[in-house]
Amino acid sequence: MRIMESRAQMRKEKTMDRIGGATGLVRRLMLGSIVLLASISLLAGCGRQQAESPESSSSADVAESSSRAGSSCVIVDDAFSNLQMTDPTIPVYDKYTLSERRAKGLTTTMPDLTPYKEGKVVYLTFDDGPDEKNTPAILDILKENGVQATFYVTGQHAELHPDVLQRIYAEHHAIGNHSYDHDYKKLYVSPETFLSEMERTDEIIHGILGVRPLILRAPGGVIGHFTKAYDPALKASGYVEHDWNVSSADAAPNHPVAQDFIDNIDSQTDKPVAAHAAIILMHCSEGHEETVKALPEIIRILKAKGYTFGVITPMTPQPW
Ligand SMILES: [Zn+2]
Repeated sequence: MRIMESRAQMRKEKTMDRIGGATGLVRRLMLGSIVLLASISLLAGCGRQQAESPESSSSADVAESSSRAGSSCVIVDDAFSNLQMTDPTIPVYDKYTLSERRAKGLTTTMPDLTPYKEGKVVYLTFDDGPDEKNTPAILDILKENGVQATFYVTGQHAELHPDVLQRIYAEHHAIGNHSYDHDYKKLYVSPETFLSEMERTDEIIHGILGVRPLILRAPGGVIGHFTKAYDPALKASGYVEHDWNVSSADAAPNHPVAQDFIDNIDSQTDKPVAAHAAIILMHCSEGHEETVKALPEIIRILKAKGYTFGVITPMTPQPW
């Protein structure tokens, strides 16, 4: 009797084990699905046109997950407190426009950050795009070589080629603001006129991607354009400006050719100022076919010199 009882007990336990095993399996499958869904939503947030973010989700969590994924981007949190990063290859964006931040009572001021100083990093930057021909050709070359770059776009060109802007974003390059239409006369009247052009461009980029850049480049660079009043005004609006320390001179008036850009970059990256953070100026807009032609050799030389390829973020060191 006791034997039968214990056999019955054993059968019961085995059945319970099977149920327990099945439950465990279901649980594991469910967990797997949650992880998969989280990964998909993560890419949707950083790599594709962004749907309205759920108010309940923490942007800090998104940022943390993005970093762990080793790709996509970081979305700055409401307080701008997650910008001190350790990886120079992850682009950073804000999910709010400046007017949305003001309306919500959130900070718009960029905090003081310690610039990234590890290793030997090169930042390929392409200004004045996107266009429909050279920018896609550059994206193809970057993809073939497995490297990232930064595109400082104008609002005017983003409006004309939103599909190319989306591709830049989807392929995890960084996007920076380069004014609406590159008109020095309007831009450099005062910090206020400069910032209103930048904010206009942000609204356009945000309308296409659902995020706005925190980085910008002053058309023509800051020298001769910015007065002392510009830096604090930019900081108060949450922007960091980066000029360059290596110029391909691909926009020089004497119509230089691909080999000139290669030589310029090769010689300038040997200078001490560019040894650890080389920020290279190039252009990806209409008429820059020679830049496209030069790019594969430029990448080959930089790889041979031991550079890794970063994207500009608020914590990228200043070029000088
Ligand atoms: Zn420009």
